[in-house]
Amino acid sequence: MTNVLVTGGAGYIGSHACKVLKQAGFTPVTFDNISTGWEDAVKFGPLEKGDLLDRARVDEVFEKYKPVAVMHFAAFSQVGESMKDPGMYWRNNVQGSLTLIEAAAAAGCLNFVFSSTCATYGEQDGVMLDEDCAQYPINSYGASKRAIEDILANFDDAYGMKSVIFRYFNVGGADPEAEVGEFHQPETHLIPVMLDAIAGKRPALTIHGTDYDTPDGTCVRDYVHVIDLVEAHVLGVKWLLDGKGSRVFNLGTGSGFSVREVIDHSRAVTNQEVPYEEGPRRPGDCVKLVSGSKRALDELGWEPKLSTLEQMIGDAWRWHQTGHYDK
Ligand code: UDP
Repeated sequence: MTNVLVTGGAGYIGSHACKVLKQAGFTPVTFDNISTGWEDAVKFGPLEKGDLLDRARVDEVFEKYKPVAVMHFAAFSQVGESMKDPGMYWRNNVQGSLTLIEAAAAAGCLNFVFSSTCATYGEQDGVMLDEDCAQYPINSYGASKRAIEDILANFDDAYGMKSVIFRYFNVGGADPEAEVGEFHQPETHLIPVMLDAIAGKRPALTIHGTDYDTPDGTCVRDYVHVIDLVEAHVLGVKWLLDGKGSRVFNLGTGSGFSVREVIDHSRAVTNQEVPYEEGPRRPGDCVKLVSGSKRALDELGWEPKLSTLEQMIGDAWRWHQTGHYDK
């Protein structure tokens, strides 16, 4: 049995990763403290409950499953929250990851796939970002993820721990078969918030800032379908198992959409009006984050197939209508 330890496997991206890992012939072992994830999202392999700050518990799980690789998703991921409570982000994200990385090294599990973020780049005057751009995060979330990238580089030097680091842009959509999907409590991400507003689960979507230096005044982001994103992670595991060494990949599409454009697309997909209001800027937001994906396409052989706004909003809407978490 080829086990892969998936931290955060009960969360949005982690649960989709488990599905795709299983389809690729691996056994995904979820390690999750169920703080922001959901036990019933763990459908494709065993669940080991635990906290990454608990080294003894993490050691136990390595000993029990002897994974060939780690996929590390477990983290707090809200920019706004990270600006209000940076300590929470440094403790959970950085200290938790360090504990996990030390445990992996001690267990001899030297293949590590890490979910990082374009928020590590910070504000770059709207350039098309690539992996060689300098990293100047402007929020605690991005800073915490950049610190973990540095830890991984040091552990490669010291112990030969090889890592594939994926810097995500914006992730959207859901499993097209609607076995798993996105559900955060509270929800802050644009697409699900918008769908909640359409469905009357909240009064309106607030657009966070309409005076940015973009064609329509709202922020621009690069959206990738969650299934395309996690397919890249499976390629990352295979890359490491093939002995190809540490590498950083951006996962973007090269196309950016403003908040207003996302609203327009969703109107077209759902045939319903999006109730929205215009609000002030959200602290920590960058104006524009868009990436090419040349390296992932050329070197990993990544082929994003579902990353159109129509597909992402359509799959998210289908998942939303299952009413899975309406109980
Ligand atoms: N956004 C918004 N209203 C919301 C949620 C998000 O206007 O209720 C904007 C947000 O300011 C950003 C974009 O939508 O410009 C994407 O935000 P999200 O929180 O989905 O992801 P992030 O870019 O922070 O990772």
